[in-house]
Amino acid sequence: MPKAGAVTNRLFDKLQQTLRGQVAIAEPLAKHTTWRIGGPADLFLRPLDVADLVNALSLLRSHGTPWLAIGSGSNLLMRDGGFRGAIIHLGHFRDAVFDESARVRAGAGLGLMRLIRLAVERGLGGLEPLAGIPGTVGGAVAMNAGAMGREIGSLVDSVLLAGADGIEEWPADRLAFGYRRSTLPPGRVISGVKLQLQPGNRETLQQDVAVRLRHRRTAQGVGRPNAGSVFKNPPGESAWKLVDQAGMRGARAGQAQVSELHGNFIVNLGGATAEDVLTLIDLVRDRVEEMTGIRLETEVRIVGSPKDL
Ligand code: FAD
Repeated sequence: MPKAGAVTNRLFDKLQQTLRGQVAIAEPLAKHTTWRIGGPADLFLRPLDVADLVNALSLLRSHGTPWLAIGSGSNLLMRDGGFRGAIIHLGHFRDAVFDESARVRAGAGLGLMRLIRLAVERGLGGLEPLAGIPGTVGGAVAMNAGAMGREIGSLVDSVLLAGADGIEEWPADRLAFGYRRSTLPPGRVISGVKLQLQPGNRETLQQDVAVRLRHRRTAQGVGRPNAGSVFKNPPGESAWKLVDQAGMRGARAGQAQVSELHGNFIVNLGGATAEDVLTLIDLVRDRVEEMTGIRLETEVRIVGSPKDL
């Protein structure tokens, strides 16, 4: 039986009776983030399909329960107290349907890298610059993930949004993609995405992906759990260079450390808490501001409750 405040026994019972996918309580979120950090979620839901997802959203709304959709947790700092409410995991939304016009409809929970491989096998390009980003399709669109001058938003035709009342399809321009952000309407989960790709030469595309993966391993192979770039690049600047200028490479707080290999990555040395990471983020941010006058903004999303709540 659930113990935590935001989730009543009635909601839990209803979800258990009607959801066909997974319903778990007190799920450790450290298992679902690439930093391997995060306390438990009161409720953890893995809907089986769109109807299941809509049913879950409708029950959560009628009980006033907060929720958060997650993908691979590769851009999330989940706090040590965990999440008061429901985490919705899109692990069952992994289909990819290609049509004759180089378009694909991909499930939000499909790994971005898996989608890139499926596309390239069919001689369809556009996504290769994003190779190696360890997120899901839904997370990539929510964040407008980008690399090497390409953002996923530029390939999106439309997005399928699930809400408590059903599914809606939104054209890309309604999502107002910007630097590492999109504007999703409240109460909606991305359940799928339609992307327009470009026909290309399969071997050339495969080589391109291989080159980019090699480059990532060299530049970002930090060897410890991390969440990629912690800070956004300020206009005309590189966050990692500013961190270096401030002498913060290698700085530590508890078991969190600014990577010795990449100034914009913070690694978990083993057993780091979200508090350790937050302390280090503040230290780096203050020192960079002192030295350069620039206040860094986080790219990682900080969610959940502190330990004592
Ligand atoms: P999560 O981290 O699970 O979630 C991120 C945000 O998206 C959260 O706010 C979440 O609520 C929301 N979200 C997730 N799924 C959905 C959904 N279905 N519906 C609605 N909202 C949703 N990012 C880049 O842009 N470029 C890079 O080059 C890059 N390199 C990285 C390298 C490493 C080693 C790592 C660990 C991370 C890197 N990232 C990079 C960050 C991260 O992988 C991307 O932001 C990725 O797109 C996040 O996807 P995710 O599925 O992990 O999302």
